[in-house]
Amino acid sequence: MRVVVVGCGRVGSLLASLLAQDGHQVAIVDRNPAAFGRLAPSFAGRTIVGDAFDLGTLQAAEIERADAFATVTAGDNTNYVLAAMARRRFRVPRVVARIYDPIRADIYRRLGVPTISSTTWGANKIRDLLLYVGLTSVLTIANAEVEVVEVGVGPDLAGFEVKSLSVPEEIQVIAIVRGGRAFIPSPLAVFNAGDLLYVAVAAGAKERLESMLMLR
Ligand code: AMP
Repeated sequence: MRVVVVGCGRVGSLLASLLAQDGHQVAIVDRNPAAFGRLAPSFAGRTIVGDAFDLGTLQAAEIERADAFATVTAGDNTNYVLAAMARRRFRVPRVVARIYDPIRADIYRRLGVPTISSTTWGANKIRDLLLYVGLTSVLTIANAEVEVVEVGVGPDLAGFEVKSLSVPEEIQVIAIVRGGRAFIPSPLAVFNAGDLLYVAVAAGAKERLESMLMLR
């Protein structure tokens, strides 16, 4: 993918490096040339010095041809305006704005700009590290409203049906790995000892899942 990243701070430089390492064509924009010093020396993308509010800067980053656009300056409003511009004016198919303020992140999301509130996400992660020991998180979705956790099936859970571990809108087994192969189980599938379950769980339902698994 062709990706444009605005802001070469801690997040932007890491994001750009990760994307470039994965083989994507990355252009990173910053108005301060010294900021590019944060990039790894092996960074294979392009660096563009300029203010992202200048159309010329965005054009130099080839935003017109971009498949994705991420804006991660420290300014919530800056990120929102740039993301809205990328989406509406340049029709970039995938756009994400990093927003610190969770309230603004919600408002912007409702205005049609996909946002990630690193504050909400970070707080959720820290809470999880402090409180939860039994479940291994493998994926958090959006601001961690939904998480996918990995659960090993021991003797306590073996023999139960998938539906016994389902709570509408809260807990859902989405995949089972058995003998090295994954499948999407029916509600009547039975857990075997040694299965690895992937369970989607709503943020407020982790304690419930843990009680169901007798982890607390
Ligand atoms: P900040 O901490 O707000 O300065 O943002 C992190 C990085 O984004 C810094 O390296 C800034 O130079 C860069 N930055 C902030 N606003 C813009 C902008 N409008 N255009 C380009 N880079 C920016």
